[in-house]
Amino acid sequence: MLGENRITLKHGAGGTAMVELIEDVFAASYGDLNAPRDDSARVDVSGPLAFTTDSFVVDPIFFPGGDIGRLAVAGTVNDLLATGAKPIALSASFIIEEGFPVNDLITIARSMEETAQEANVQIVTGDTKVVARGSADKVFISTSGIGVILRNGISGAAAKPGDVIILTGSIGDHGAAVMLAREKLLDAETVKSDTAPLTDIVLNLIEAGCEIHSMRDPTRGGIGAALNEIAKQSDVGMVLDERAIAVKPPVAAACEALGIDPLYVANEGKMIIIVSAADAERSLDIIKRQRYGYDASIVGRITSNHPGQVRIKTSIGTTRIVPPPSGELLPRIC
Ligand code: MG
Repeated sequence: MLGENRITLKHGAGGTAMVELIEDVFAASYGDLNAPRDDSARVDVSGPLAFTTDSFVVDPIFFPGGDIGRLAVAGTVNDLLATGAKPIALSASFIIEEGFPVNDLITIARSMEETAQEANVQIVTGDTKVVARGSADKVFISTSGIGVILRNGISGAAAKPGDVIILTGSIGDHGAAVMLAREKLLDAETVKSDTAPLTDIVLNLIEAGCEIHSMRDPTRGGIGAALNEIAKQSDVGMVLDERAIAVKPPVAAACEALGIDPLYVANEGKMIIIVSAADAERSLDIIKRQRYGYDASIVGRITSNHPGQVRIKTSIGTTRIVPPPSGELLPRIC
């Protein structure tokens, strides 16, 4: 099987070629080789569960700082974490275009396993379909995940006036990296995606008992979209401090070249964490000690004024509204 170069329709046909593909590519890369090959995986959990699903169609599938596999695991893990859940198990479904190189599939599967190990989660079940050339573009992956909710009540609807908005790092890295790679605009390595599972940040905050009210990973639509969603869900206002929101210089340059506002550009390794004012500094300290949180900062506050609206104090001292994104967002960014 590994000697063959390309995926063919028979790899999705349910016969021996498909079994070989699953054994040599997926089982060899992740999961428990000795687990029974049954129609469902068995997962032992107790307590209230979080359950989420996401599809990944990013173009290109390999980009500086990550690939579609790392993205598929980190994206689903971060959605579970944002609900206050410890990720336990993932599924991974592949839709593969006929002719796709087997070696690329192996690279993706290994990247998924690496990311899953980093996130302390297991990929326990999956599916593979092959479609005729032109019926899909290279490879699409869907991941679903379950996690055990460690802290009840964390919700986009739970932000309160007086709360503090923490952002775990600089914005726009993922969207800018993918757009540059796709358009071949700049030397590929100048901007890297931030794709990462944020398990350590979230679980350490929960373990320390920090009073987290809301969390959201600002993916498609960037922090502009995510903060507007929370402002509406919680019926509160927000005031951001532009100077506290980090944008790496090459990302800022890329956004300017592409004519996009980094506030609306996707992140895949950042979390918005809204905490009580009393726990803000302690939470920030904990976040900064984690691998993906060294760049974290307090970027704003929740207000009772202008409910449902996000405002930003600009670096020149004026205040403007940050509307929810409208119109065309960047396509196939995740
Ligand atoms: Mg999310």
